[in-house]
Amino acid sequence: MRQIDHFIAGGAGREADGRTGEVFDPNSGVVQARVPLGGKAELDRAVAAAKAAQPAWAVTNPQRRARVMFKFKELVEANMDELARLLSSEHGKVIADAKGDLQRGLDVIEFACGIPHAMKGEYTEGAGPGIDVYSMRVPLGIGAGITPFNFPAMIPMWMFGVSVAVGNAFILKPSERDPSVPVRLAELFREAGGPEGILQVVHGDKEMVDAILDHPDIAAVSFVGSSDIAQYVYSRGVAAGKRVQAMGGAKNHGIVMPDADMDQVVNDLAGAAFGSAGERCMALPVVVPVGEDTAERLREKLIPAIQALRVGISTDEEAHYGPVVTAAHKKKVEDWIATAEAEGGELVIDGRGFRLQGHEDGFFVGPTLIDHVTPDMESYRNEIFGPVLQIVRAKDFEEAVMLPSKHQYGNGVAIFTRNGHAAREFAARVEVGMVGINVPIPVPVAYHSFGGWKRSAFGDHNQHGMDGVRFWTKTKTVTQRWPDGSVTGENAFVIPTMG
Ligand code: NAD
Repeated sequence: MRQIDHFIAGGAGREADGRTGEVFDPNSGVVQARVPLGGKAELDRAVAAAKAAQPAWAVTNPQRRARVMFKFKELVEANMDELARLLSSEHGKVIADAKGDLQRGLDVIEFACGIPHAMKGEYTEGAGPGIDVYSMRVPLGIGAGITPFNFPAMIPMWMFGVSVAVGNAFILKPSERDPSVPVRLAELFREAGGPEGILQVVHGDKEMVDAILDHPDIAAVSFVGSSDIAQYVYSRGVAAGKRVQAMGGAKNHGIVMPDADMDQVVNDLAGAAFGSAGERCMALPVVVPVGEDTAERLREKLIPAIQALRVGISTDEEAHYGPVVTAAHKKKVEDWIATAEAEGGELVIDGRGFRLQGHEDGFFVGPTLIDHVTPDMESYRNEIFGPVLQIVRAKDFEEAVMLPSKHQYGNGVAIFTRNGHAAREFAARVEVGMVGINVPIPVPVAYHSFGGWKRSAFGDHNQHGMDGVRFWTKTKTVTQRWPDGSVTGENAFVIPTMG
């Protein structure tokens, strides 16, 4: 049995008698590795190594830090095939998706290669007589990241890409479901010239998360995962005096206006609702056709498109999507389908009980389509996070704007239309953080920033881009004057008074 280890500089290693967790191969349902579930002892070692390394890293000039990021990017690219296979074997997403996961993370590393520019402060000459004011961005010290299973490469890179580039040490606690790629990334960072102790990985579950949240030497925590845990992490971390950003769950809606190009919509929905088995926080699991006629036209085209989807093992190049991550998650998704039916949803295509020949014990869920879903249903109000598409029919544009706006989640939303005015109006009014106009998965590029609203994000800074730089640094502002020695005229210091 493969044993995964922490990546702690200065004395790595799991505790011999420590707890462990199982890492499955979702294609076969077999346990393929064990991961240590650590706690305070391992974290203390990681923090000690981080503390020893961070001051020198912080004063390494930003261009040199950027060179490490350049080299790291090169190494990830050189190892792309191996990393994608490893990622796919633990997560279950198909290889092309696994490469996408890595590539979207690398986009942030590319942003981090420009950190000397992004870190520049502001300057005002002559803010008063002979007085200049300038600001600088200072790293926080030690940052930590707690990440979900669904993007084991991209989300860690969202966080550590920016955090280490600005001069912090970073401790990553990845999901215990697919922890191997995060460890490989930390190894490659070392190989790229990153100093020991600057990027470390500790494994675990709630016990490790709590140790991170309570640790007095960790200045900031970035979390991505489900909303209840995000809120918990946010509250506990803030109570301990830390800076915390905590991204949560999602239920993204795709609004289909009567004038939308229906073939395009169906093609986009097939990828956005079912790609990666629906395990994306920017998936589109709810489609909202506007008007009955639109709903009927959409449904007619959706059914054959969904029936044509190929579910396969994650190395099957023809497969649209692979298994979900664990047996427990498969059960949860199937339970939600049952709930939707019991609540009165029309189960048009039922993916429960799907068995892939030759892989009968894999965690597969067939594509599912549920029509006539209404806002009062629990299966609508909650995140399913599986290959399930729900149709909620809206009578008009107004109702279509209100549905995502009133939902507890506000991560992403999309509108499909040929009408620029409607699209503009929708983007301005909808209460959601990321909006797509004829773009089904509107994940902002790395030099913008990623973040939802409402229960999709707690805290006030988004991930990556300039928001990431703001989150991972604190601002120091200097007001200076250089008097010439005479104490008259301009050089006489006067305490400013009102009036
Ligand atoms: P999760 O909340 O179960 O786990 C996330 C992290 O929290 C993991 O590292 C896990 O070990 C830790 N954790 C789990 N239980 C905990 C507990 N009781 N106390 C403290 N820590 C705990 O999420 P997941 O199932 O790994 O990921 C899927 C979720 O993440 C979905 O809800 C999805 O929408 C969300 N997500 C959100 C975004 C976003 O940017 N908003 C992006 C990706 C995923």
